[in-house]
Amino acid sequence: MSARKRRLAIVGNGMAACRLLDELQSRGGFDRYDITVFGDERGGAYNRVLLSKVLAGDEPDAIVTKPPAWFTERGIRLHDGVAVKRLDTEAKLIETADGATQRYDVAVLATGSQPRVPPLEGMTTDAGDLRPGVFVYRTMDDCTRMRAHARPGDTAVVLGGGLLGLEAAKVLSDGGLHVTVVHAARTLMNAQLDELGGEMLERQIESHGIFVRTGRTIEAVVGDTVMEGIRMDDGKVLAADMLVLACGVRPRVDVARASGLPINNGIVVNDTLATEAPGVYAIGDCAEHAGRTYGIVAPAWEQAQVLAEVLTGANPQARYRGSKLYTRLKVAGVDVASMGRIEPELERDEVIQVVETRRGSYRKLIVRGNELVGAMLVGNTAAAASLVQTLDRGDPLPDDPLEALCPMAAFAAPACADRTVCNCNGVPESRIRDAIAAGAGSVEELALATRAGTGCGSCKTELAQILKKQTATPPPKLAAAG
Ligand SMILES: Cc1cc2nc3c(=O)[nH]c(=O)nc-3n(C[C@H](O)[C@H](O)[C@H](O)COP(=O)(O)OP(=O)(O)OC[C@H]3O[C@@H](n4cnc5c(N)ncnc54)[C@H](O)[C@@H]3O)c2cc1C
Repeated sequence: MSARKRRLAIVGNGMAACRLLDELQSRGGFDRYDITVFGDERGGAYNRVLLSKVLAGDEPDAIVTKPPAWFTERGIRLHDGVAVKRLDTEAKLIETADGATQRYDVAVLATGSQPRVPPLEGMTTDAGDLRPGVFVYRTMDDCTRMRAHARPGDTAVVLGGGLLGLEAAKVLSDGGLHVTVVHAARTLMNAQLDELGGEMLERQIESHGIFVRTGRTIEAVVGDTVMEGIRMDDGKVLAADMLVLACGVRPRVDVARASGLPINNGIVVNDTLATEAPGVYAIGDCAEHAGRTYGIVAPAWEQAQVLAEVLTGANPQARYRGSKLYTRLKVAGVDVASMGRIEPELERDEVIQVVETRRGSYRKLIVRGNELVGAMLVGNTAAAASLVQTLDRGDPLPDDPLEALCPMAAFAAPACADRTVCNCNGVPESRIRDAIAAGAGSVEELALATRAGTGCGSCKTELAQILKKQTATPPPKLAAAG
């Protein structure tokens, strides 16, 4: 084999691309490939999952994971702020929006997704841009713009009561704005929760001072030059200084389309994450595998790992077989987790529900035989980690499946002996304990050693607890009396 490095071009510098770089590096991929990364967002790569921190007022640097210097130091060419237009898959050329071209041997599309923008009357300027006061919630720029616009005492409407809409609503409300969430379906987070779960969640959201209007949508943005409010589909006008559109995302496939690659909902890939064009792969939100696109980070990272195995030859037989869905609402004071199916599908599926009206807690399991096929937890997510593990591994449920809802119950002990603590990265407790034994003395050091806590960050409290427990000095033994 020739010693010449092969040219690897990565289109997109988001969370999937970043993880691919890490996975390549840990398998010697930087010696094998001459790597170029194109990212149309300036400033290097950041953890998109933590954007709410920037919306809440943290400096953008707080969530940057790979600044431009990271690339330079490793001999990777970063075209920061440069958009790719198309790939000429026959000549193996990348064309950028500024008209430049570059050869590649292997290209990876990691172009992510883009917000769905409903066509509302009065929403755009004559030039076609979103009108001042109307925002989407996807990028660092979106957050800095929203932050510059929002002032305490202002009124904000969020269109969409899913994960992102509720996250944005809570941050704006915590910043002193009067916030109303408008959601077209009958109940909130209807993609992850059944109606009862959605209703319980609505009560929790309202208890934080946010107004919720379900079963309604918005028809128009009103006001002459400045936005003055929105008109609902029942004709009522709600005064508002800003509107946040959180109506879901769709895979960003413009480059793939211009390159003639097969696209369904996303860019169609097989189990090696390869598209039909030789040498062209796709991972992350933009990729469609076995008819599914995901839009969350754990599948993107699993795909990055498999692709690195294949591209470096560390394990050419590695295959991606799909990911199980697990979502958690990361809004302070509102606990929601959902995994697998939300309703029974087969006649023999059994549903187990525990509703505690005064505590505002709702827990539901969907069970097939002695196997868990879905679970949702609202208001009490203590069993989430052990349930994810049970679902993921297909572990049998106890004879009384209700015990699975009690993480401290006897059932939990054997099944969760090595439970997953960080679900974004699939890090089991044993690996965290090993890292502590090897010297990791803080949550940051644990993150460096195991990656735990580097995704949505919701496991950081638990990491700190494990650390504290394992490093606590044992109390001095009392001298025997006598
Ligand atoms: C506010 C927010 C909160 C979220 N919270 C969670 C969460 O709690 N848990 C979870 O699992 N997921 C969450 N997600 C989703 C998660 O961020 C995505 O699943 C993840 O970022 C997907 O990674 P990706 O690399 O595929 O796409 P992205 O991270 O979007 O990266 C794609 C990059 O490619 C760039 N790009 C696109 N086209 C081109 C082009 N032609 N040329 C150059 N560059 C291009 C884009 O600008 C972008 O920078 C959240 C998303 C948002 C917006």
